[in-house]
This record gives sequence, C-alpha cells and structure tokens, in this order.
Amino acid sequence: MRTIDSVEKKFALARACIVKLRPYYSAAIYRMVPVATDEILTLACDRYWRCYYNPTYLESVSVLTAATDVLHELGHLLQRHENRCTVHGLEHGFFNVAGDFEINDDLREQKDLDLSKTAIHPKHYGMPVGLIAEEYYKLVMERREEFQALLDANKPGFQDCGSCSGGKGREWEYGDPSGNARGVKPHEAERVRNVVARDLLNYARKNPGSVPGDLERWADEILNPKVPWQTMLRSSVRRNYAKRAGMSDHSYRMPNRRQDFYGEVIMPALVDPSPGIAVVLDTSGSMDATLLAEVLAEVRGITRDLSPDDGVSVFCVDADATPAQQVFDPKQVKLLGGGGTDMGVGIAAAERHRPRPEICIVLTDGYTPWPKSQPSGMDVVVGIVGSKDAHVPNVANYPVSLPSGISLPQMDRGPDKPPEWATTIYIS
Ligand SMILES: [Zn+2]
Repeated sequence: MRTIDSVEKKFALARACIVKLRPYYSAAIYRMVPVATDEILTLACDRYWRCYYNPTYLESVSVLTAATDVLHELGHLLQRHENRCTVHGLEHGFFNVAGDFEINDDLREQKDLDLSKTAIHPKHYGMPVGLIAEEYYKLVMERREEFQALLDANKPGFQDCGSCSGGKGREWEYGDPSGNARGVKPHEAERVRNVVARDLLNYARKNPGSVPGDLERWADEILNPKVPWQTMLRSSVRRNYAKRAGMSDHSYRMPNRRQDFYGEVIMPALVDPSPGIAVVLDTSGSMDATLLAEVLAEVRGITRDLSPDDGVSVFCVDADATPAQQVFDPKQVKLLGGGGTDMGVGIAAAERHRPRPEICIVLTDGYTPWPKSQPSGMDVVVGIVGSKDAHVPNVANYPVSLPSGISLPQMDRGPDKPPEWATTIYIS
C-alpha cells in the first residue's frame, strides 16, 4: 500500500542515489523542492527548482529510474532551458522536446543510470546526437506538424516538463517563491550552477574520464562565460562613448556664443556630445577576410548608432596610413601579405585628424608594435581579429618603417601585446 511516507522516502532515496553516483550535483540536488501532485503523469519541474512528481508514478519505478528522472529535470535547470527559450521567443512545446533531446542523449550514454524506455531520444527521430537544444529546435521545427501531433497526443516521453524547460508557469505550478512556496530564485540558481560547475571540474580532475565531456564543457562555460565579441565590442565602444560624453560637456568644436567678450582666447562651448569615431584598419598580415567583413559590418552598425552626424574616418594602415576615408565595404579593403605594419602610425594619423576623433577603434591581427602612451584626448579600443591562441609574436625585431615626416618618439617596439591603456577585444 502506498503511503505519503513511502513516496517521500522514494524521492529521498533517489536524491541519495544521485549524490552517491554524481557527487558533484549535491549542491543542486538538495536545492530542488519536491512537490507531490496528481496533476502531472510523471515528473516535471518549474523555473524555481520545484520538482513535481506524480506519487503513483514514482512508486512504480525503481530508485535508479527515479534518480535518472530527477537528473533529467535538473538538466533543464542547469542548462538554463527556460531562459534560452524565453530570450529567443521560442515555442516552449517544441523547445521542451529539443531540451529533452539535449539532455537524454547524454543520460542514455551513462550506463550506471536508468533512463526510462519511453524517454525520447534524437536517434528515434533520425537526428544526430550531441547537438544543443537550439540546434534540435531547428530540426524539430522543420518537421513541425509531425512533432505537433506527438505533443497533442501527449505520447509517452512528450509530456510537458514544466516551466524549467521554457514558457510561462503552468497552472499546476506554485508561482514565485514566497512563504510556504519555497523555491530557488534566479540569482540563487546562478550561484548553485556555479557551485556545481566548480565541483564538477574538481571531480573530473580527481577522477579522469569519469565525467562526460559535454558536462565538462558545460561547467567550463558556466565558470568562464564566453561573451560574443560583438557584444564586447559594442559595449566597450559604448562605455568609452558614455565616458567621453560625460567629459565633453565643454567642447572646442563650436565657438562659444560669448566668444567676442573673450577676444582672441577661444572658449569652449557646451555642445551635445557626439564623439567622433575613427577606425584604424590593419590591411597587412593574416586577417581572415570573411571575419574582417563581419567585424566591419559590426563596427559600421555601432558607429551609425553613436555618431550619425559626424560619420567615421577610416584609416587603412600597412606601413603607412592612408588619408582618412570612408571605407566600410570590405571589397574596397585590400589585404596585403607580409609584415611592416605599425598600428601606431594609424593611431597617430587619427590623432592628427581634425576634428580629432574621441574614440579610435583599431582592427588588427596583432602583429604590430604599439605606442607606449595613450594618445591625448582619444580612447582606443583594439579588436584583435583572429584567434586568441594564435597570439602575436614578439616584435622586437619586427621591421617597422615610418613614413618620412612622422615621428613616434614614444613607440615601444618591445611588447607584443596591446597596451594597458587600450580596451582589447579578441575577435575570432
Ligand atoms: Zn524534460
């Protein structure tokens, strides 16, 4: 006979089983709040880490199956499926299927677990294993009608996993954590993910080969998030823009209306700050032309937003800097082989340009020396186009030729990495 006690004990045993088999999940598994309900057929979870279970179902399966089911729900939580679905405005029924594929193909591989026979698996639908949910979502949407029918029929394996997998809170969920409705709030969830990621990598170090590679990659991404270069470039240019806007309340660009009163001394005027932007483009070396086209398109978008009136001056640099021009069409940019590049020449040319740009974006493969000190009145954002691993060489013996008439007394030919005073972004 089933009693509440026996079902609760089953859930507790499932948790203990997970902690024994996968100790690195301990921090997360004890944050999940079990909730018995007859409104779902098997297990589900909400975005606040409440794990709902049907008592009859839980009673009918082994402790190991229950543990694997709980791990499945935990997978949705750790992988942030709810957030990934919501941010991109995806349809949660289909994203639930995609998330299940992402989780189940890993669980099925782990022979000491017992994934239910009815659990859906990408192979059952002729799809490759090892994809991420967004990739499965795309494949599922290509066969939308077929999967819609499976969802509508509520076929085994196609049951809703709850708001942990995406979409709004379901009617059987408790809603925001408050009072007795305990739950894990999003910022706490982030901390739990960090602890699990750290524990998982520690465990993997002590027990080589014991943790699936996908999980190690997940943990690495949680602890070392890779922000897309587009976001970094945009935010660093905007940050410099905001700083410049704050500083340039007084500008010499427009004459002060009371200028006559002050005679020969030119007074700054209060202007609506719109910093000029220069782009210094390295046309030598080994930059990937396709990637460069992407970077230029991104820079064009950023500068259009920030400096629509002033436009952008572009300086193409190999050993010399070309006169400022509007070059955003990558077809107009001729990439030359070999060395001899000096981004300092381009930065100096931007500095001499009038009106002087206040932000200088340097796009280079990094094979260049750099000026020792920051140009006055100009912030520099350096985009290293290419792989971070293919790092720049020591340029101590690098051939540098300065055009006549240009002197760069502060040039330092020693260091091979971009200067501290510049904001550097690695683009690859
Ligand atoms: Zn699921």
